[in-house]
Amino acid sequence: MTNKFRHGFKSESEFYASVFRKELSLAPHAPMHAKTLAEHLEIPVRPLSTHDGVPDEIKTFWQTNGEDTFSGVTINDGTYKEIVYNDFHHPRRQNSDIAHELAHIVLGHTLTAPIKANGERDYDRAIEEEAKWLGATLLLPKKALIHVILNGMPIEAVRDEYGVSESLYRFRAQVTDAFRAAKNTRRKYGTAAE
Ligand SMILES: [Zn+2]
Repeated sequence: MTNKFRHGFKSESEFYASVFRKELSLAPHAPMHAKTLAEHLEIPVRPLSTHDGVPDEIKTFWQTNGEDTFSGVTINDGTYKEIVYNDFHHPRRQNSDIAHELAHIVLGHTLTAPIKANGERDYDRAIEEEAKWLGATLLLPKKALIHVILNGMPIEAVRDEYGVSESLYRFRAQVTDAFRAAKNTRRKYGTAAE
């Protein structure tokens, strides 16, 4: 699992997370919601429920088919791009769905793949894995994780401030080895820094 990405991809993801925060005048560890980033990148983000280009029966289908259905999709018409997301999902799930779509756009993935019956595009796995990784990194970069851990922020606060699920937080903390990094920082500087 650690070597599935091309060399440098994980650092590149952290770099994007920090560059976008800088452009938005946010601290490197600050929360950055997907909609804020979309606005900054000038990508319209539209909820499925009120989208006039989607027939009602399709909305109903996506509304009632549980967690495994349609999350979000990027409409790509020449140079025009917009993200349609499933606003029937929990707001934290919406946040990560939009971040995922933004990751596809940031990485320049070809968005012309056909849409399958379940609403997903038929990408190859590598591209999906990249978008998953970058989407999660944008919301919770390693610097944010270290900040959260050093400050002993309770999980409820992490969820609310960063708009992420507990499982996303645990996943990111694990893959970035953030607990060890926080421990090293504490050892080096004594008390909570940043
Ligand atoms: Zn995707």
